[in-house]
Amino acid sequence: MENVTQLFGTNVFSESVMKERLPKDTFKALKKTMILGQELAPEVAEVVANAMKDWAVEKGATHYTHWFQPMTGKTAEKHDSFIEPTGDGKVIMEFSGKQLIQGEPDASSFPNGGLRATFEARGYTAWDATSPAFLKDDTLCIPTAFCSYTGEALDKKTPLLRSMQAVSEQAVRILRLFGDTETNKVTSTVGPEQEYFLVDKKLFQLRKDLIFSGRTLFGAMPPKGQELDDHYFGSIKERVSEFMKEFDLELWKLGISSKTKHNEVAPAQHEMAPIYSTTNIATDHNQLVMDTLIKVANRHDLACLLHEKPFAGVNGSGKHNNWSISTENANLLEPGDTPHENAQFLTFLVATIAAVDKYAPLLRLSAASPGNDHRLGANEAPPAVISIFLGEQLNAIIEQIKEGALTSSTKASAMDLGVTTLPKFAKDVTDRNRTSPFAFTGNKFEFRMVGSSASVSGPNIVLNTIVAEVLKDIADELEVAEDFNATLKTIIERLIKAHSRIIFNGDGYSEDWLEEAERRELPNIKTAVEAIKVFDDPEYVDLFLRHGVFFKGEIAARQEIMFEEYIKTINIEALTMIEMAKKEIMPSVIEFATSLADSINAIKAAVPSAMVSVQENLLIKVSELLVEAQEKLVALEEEVEKTHLIEDIEEEAFAFKFNVFEKMVDLRKPCDELEVIVAEDYWPYPTYSDLLFRV
Ligand code: ADP
Ligand code: MG
Repeated sequence: MENVTQLFGTNVFSESVMKERLPKDTFKALKKTMILGQELAPEVAEVVANAMKDWAVEKGATHYTHWFQPMTGKTAEKHDSFIEPTGDGKVIMEFSGKQLIQGEPDASSFPNGGLRATFEARGYTAWDATSPAFLKDDTLCIPTAFCSYTGEALDKKTPLLRSMQAVSEQAVRILRLFGDTETNKVTSTVGPEQEYFLVDKKLFQLRKDLIFSGRTLFGAMPPKGQELDDHYFGSIKERVSEFMKEFDLELWKLGISSKTKHNEVAPAQHEMAPIYSTTNIATDHNQLVMDTLIKVANRHDLACLLHEKPFAGVNGSGKHNNWSISTENANLLEPGDTPHENAQFLTFLVATIAAVDKYAPLLRLSAASPGNDHRLGANEAPPAVISIFLGEQLNAIIEQIKEGALTSSTKASAMDLGVTTLPKFAKDVTDRNRTSPFAFTGNKFEFRMVGSSASVSGPNIVLNTIVAEVLKDIADELEVAEDFNATLKTIIERLIKAHSRIIFNGDGYSEDWLEEAERRELPNIKTAVEAIKVFDDPEYVDLFLRHGVFFKGEIAARQEIMFEEYIKTINIEALTMIEMAKKEIMPSVIEFATSLADSINAIKAAVPSAMVSVQENLLIKVSELLVEAQEKLVALEEEVEKTHLIEDIEEEAFAFKFNVFEKMVDLRKPCDELEVIVAEDYWPYPTYSDLLFRV
């Protein structure tokens, strides 16, 4: 294997490359832009662009692209070559500052929720200098934001950057109050753990449902599932291991610090985790991780499934979004060594707890997708109710504070808050409650609801914004307080009392918890469509406007796009089911039934007294199920047609969930029953046994 330290980041126009290739002044100016998010002067951009191009061309690049993240949740790129005719039949390789800073893709086919209809149809892309450019194949990729000409965000990056700014502003205000006069910026950090399935590519290609919808729409449970728990952390099969090695190498070249890999709970399921970075880089990187998974799998004759629930009856895939906020030197959710640090830690911790309780529906919304409906609120991890796991130690402290144990000595400096009641916390490694949707894990929160195929942008936009909001309230009150210490104590106590209902350290999968959550009046939003519906609640619209995260009109547009995506996804699934049932399942079953009838006739002709009850009973059963399948098929077809006539998009989405989806479940049932009794040779596509155990 190549030397990893030398290989790491070779495809990234990283800070060290910039330092090496840019004049000192240019480097300094660029660095300032990167840190403060300021605009880059045109003459600086010119120099940077040229250096970037030279570097890329030396590495074999011929094209560049503004790499952006439209509302599809995927990434988009339009490649332009560097060539510039010189008039004598030759070309030179050119890349200007203007081309670096701004692009104008004809982006009218990206979802925009009606935002661009009334304005200019074109959008523009603008370089996000806080995320480094990189090389993919023969193309220089420049991470960019994507907006309409009137400035509305049409992508997942712009509001994320705005939300990072929002939480930074408010967190800095809090730090000032605690006497920190130097910090000007607080960064939210994310480490997203990624789960995925690997199946054999040849088998994958035999299933229309996997090809069109990423999940199996039919399929009976195999004799063996995940009940033996023999896959989790199990030894990695050679073929998968070869895949993982190359996957790691590709990520390392892109400067993505892929750190952990292991087998997950379900057969054929795996996980990778990177080392965390700033939220926008982590989000960019996670998109590249998903991209790379699919590409590298393909090279190994495997297909990577990123869907949240590729197989019914075995665990689905999620993305654990590990989140924290930190200054250049310190993680603000890290319990400190001194009372001062602990009081500050407690402030950020309690702010996060209050934010999650106050805005639980928004967090739920941020994890809403058609695929994730099969996990959240179904019989699987995590539940649709949001709660926070704190761990024993921290919980004990919160309980004490609730009971009034927090002391404040007004005489002493403002920092003495709670000296007597705040012991030094140790990182809690004892209890890793896997059933909690939002767990404190020592120095960060782990949001576990996110779906495996989703961009982590949405969840982090929400997290940053809701925490910014509570920090803002705290800062507003503290800045005018006469007695900092006493006021902080009051605030912390008040927030804990008001929001401790969100804390739950027990088993999040149990029925008891759902009942208890109802008593606590915690929202239980079971489906994506219901979650999407809350988005334009005036309270939430105001919240996002207040922090400059979404502009007017952007929320309605995003809500529309989410409903649309929901409708389209279920529609594709329904049509795929109809096609598979009609053209594959039913003809195969008829063939099998005919073979049974032939056999009965042949045997009876040969030996009239021979027993053929086995064939007869089977034929009766098969025929019954075939009739049932036909009925359900027709019902589904009619329902889809009817639902398309609904004009209101929200209503249509709800109908797809509560009517069409139900009819899909109805059709699946007789088909899966047929799969179990029809002879293997007749079944038209690979079964769960093939897919899950043949890699
Ligand atoms: P554990 O195994 O205890 O969950 P890990 O150290 O494996 O913890 O971390 C899981 C993920 O959380 C990794 O991607 C890691 O980089 C990330 N992580 C660790 N610290 C932070 C932090 N301060 N902010 C965001 N993510 C973090
Ligand atoms: Mg973890």
